[in-house]
Amino acid sequence: MKYSIPKFWRRKEGYYQIILTKCRECGKVAFFTYVRCPYCGSSNVELVKSCGRGVVEEFTISYNRVEEGEEYLPKIIAIVRLNEGVRVVGELVDIDLSEVKEGVEVEAVLRRFSSDDPHGLIYYGLKFAPVIKGA
Ligand SMILES: [Zn+2]
Repeated sequence: MKYSIPKFWRRKEGYYQIILTKCRECGKVAFFTYVRCPYCGSSNVELVKSCGRGVVEEFTISYNRVEEGEEYLPKIIAIVRLNEGVRVVGELVDIDLSEVKEGVEVEAVLRRFSSDDPHGLIYYGLKFAPVIKGA
């Protein structure tokens, strides 16, 4: 996967943490960054960092191999409801297919996405892994 290095660098904040927009007027939270609240239109918003934890609401298992992508098939793609109440889509890792189910508690973890092989950059981003109890 070929990325422009400056472009990746400029967007790094959004790759390494989950940024949410919180409205000071209506109190609702939306995934990613907005200058206006997508619910009430107010510009009285603040950007907040998600705690990165949530539960799996839905998931699908993909055997689709994408050209130029680093492949660890099958991939488990899930809709995760974050503790802040926002739903995001992400890949589940470090979990056995037989253990994936709705309601599993997960947290965002930094994982390798791809690289410009053989001598290029390695790109990292967030995926979701099961919360280890007691940790
Ligand atoms: Zn609002």
